[in-house]
Amino acid sequence: MRPLFTTPESRSRFRQLCGAFAGMVLLGAEVMAAEPAQSKGPGAADSRRSAPAVRDPWAPAERPRDWQYLVLHHSATKDGSVESIHQAHLMNRDQFGQPWLGIGYHFVIGNGSGMDDGEVEPTFRWRGQLQGAHAGSVDHNERGIGICLIGNFQEAPPSARQLESLARLTTYLARKHAIDSESIVGHGSVRATECPGRNFPLQQVRKRLALHQNDLPTAVSVRLSSTPFDAIDR
Ligand SMILES: [Zn+2]
Repeated sequence: MRPLFTTPESRSRFRQLCGAFAGMVLLGAEVMAAEPAQSKGPGAADSRRSAPAVRDPWAPAERPRDWQYLVLHHSATKDGSVESIHQAHLMNRDQFGQPWLGIGYHFVIGNGSGMDDGEVEPTFRWRGQLQGAHAGSVDHNERGIGICLIGNFQEAPPSARQLESLARLTTYLARKHAIDSESIVGHGSVRATECPGRNFPLQQVRKRLALHQNDLPTAVSVRLSSTPFDAIDR
């Protein structure tokens, strides 16, 4: 077993982690304190605009890879979650006969069956900045961020909330990694597959990104009861 925090570097990393944790606790306390007693009305979000910025919930744990593409998929199922896809992908084997590490995507966006509608969840591949196992192309697995929306878009389009979340996520990732709208591709552009389905509005997703990519970061809104997704809109 590797000894923990024995070198000066790792001790300083440990202190950083402790500091970050303390900061998060303090931040939580500040946000709670700033939360007005009656804030359920329509103007509630604005009243929280002055709240302190929260940590970036999508920041990976590792140094970012050299991402060049966003590769969009559907699950081709009615329901699903990170966990259900993870279990399914654990059964897959790579070209060398080795089992996959687990879910091949970097992000999953739920549709209300298995995950909340519009909920975005990063996977271990994003947190660890590992290459994906989703594209069927070496280049797009190594340099493409795999995003899977739950649903079968051969049959119906994604939900409005899924598209809203996808727009936020693609804008965030494109800004962070300098990816242009033309490098957002459907799986079917990389290999012969129907994925992400004939009802998937790829052009609309690209257009929306092109419109918003150069916007200045907007104020952070903090919602205590929601997924951390609101925090990335900056
Ligand atoms: Zn796909």
